[in-house]
Amino acid sequence: MIRPGRARASRARLLTAAACPAVLACLVTACGSPPPSSGGGGSAGDAAASPAGMRASADPGTATPRPSPPPAAAKPLAGITVGIDPGHNGLNGTDPGYINHMIWNGRESETCDTTGTQTASGYTEARFNFNVARYLRAALHNEGAHVVMTRQNNDGVGPCVDRRAQLLNDSGARVAIDIHADGGPAWGRGFTVLEPVPDGPNNHVIRASERFGGDVRAALLARTSMPVSNYYGSNGIQFRDDLAGLNLTTVPKVLIESGNMTNATDAALLTSPGFQRQLARALLAAILAFLHKR
Ligand code: ZN
Repeated sequence: MIRPGRARASRARLLTAAACPAVLACLVTACGSPPPSSGGGGSAGDAAASPAGMRASADPGTATPRPSPPPAAAKPLAGITVGIDPGHNGLNGTDPGYINHMIWNGRESETCDTTGTQTASGYTEARFNFNVARYLRAALHNEGAHVVMTRQNNDGVGPCVDRRAQLLNDSGARVAIDIHADGGPAWGRGFTVLEPVPDGPNNHVIRASERFGGDVRAALLARTSMPVSNYYGSNGIQFRDDLAGLNLTTVPKVLIESGNMTNATDAALLTSPGFQRQLARALLAAILAFLHKR
C-alpha cells in the first residue's frame, strides 16, 4: 500500500480526497465549472431490434400459413440492473459543513465526501465523472440494462459516500462502477483500478470484484488511449480498505481512477468528449464481459 493509514491521517483535514489516492494535488476549491450540457442520457430502447426477412410470401397462390413472428431479439442486458457512482458532485465545495461531516466507512470514520480534483484549467473531476457516467448510462440502456446512478446531475451536493454505497446495494445491481479521476503528481500518468479488501459487509463480493477489476483493466487497455498508471498501484490495480464505496458494497464493484487530471497529457484526454465516450464504451465492454454477455 502506497499510503497506508491515509484515511486516518486525513481526519484532521477538512477536505480529504476519499477516492483520490494520490492526493498531492487534490484540490479543495469550489467547483466552478458549469454542469455539462444535457443530452446523451436516458436513450433506452432505441436500438433496432426488428428482424427482417420473416414476411410471409407475397404470392397469394402459395397460401402458406403466415409464420408467427419471432420474439424480439433480447438485448444482452435485458432484465439486468447496473449501478454507476459518478464520484463527488459539482457543488460539493459550496457546503463544507455537510461534506466534511464524518460517516462510518465500514472500518473507520471518513468525511461524507470531498470536492474531488480538477485540471490546471479548472475542469473539475466531478464534471468528468458525471459526463462519463452519462455516456455509460446511455450505452447500457442501449444494451437493455436498467441503470441506477447515485446522483442525477452535476449541480448538487452529495450524497455522502456511505449513502452512495447503500443506494447501489439496495438497487439490485449485478455489478457497479465508481467513476473518478485522480489528482496525482504532475509527472504521473495513467489509470488505476481500485479494488475492495474484505471487511465483513463486502466479503462475498471480493472475488467477483477482482474479476470485474480485471475486466475493467483489460477493456481500458484494449479500447482507450489511457495507459496504466506509472505512479500508483501495481500494473493498474490497487487494493484499498479505506473507502466507503468499496468497504460497504454488497455488489461486485471497483473504483476507476480514470487518469491523472494534474498531468497535462492525461488532462487533454480526460476533458475530451471523445475520450469520455471511448472510456464509457470500454466500461460497457468490461460490464458485458463480467456478466458473460459478450
Ligand atoms: Zn475522486
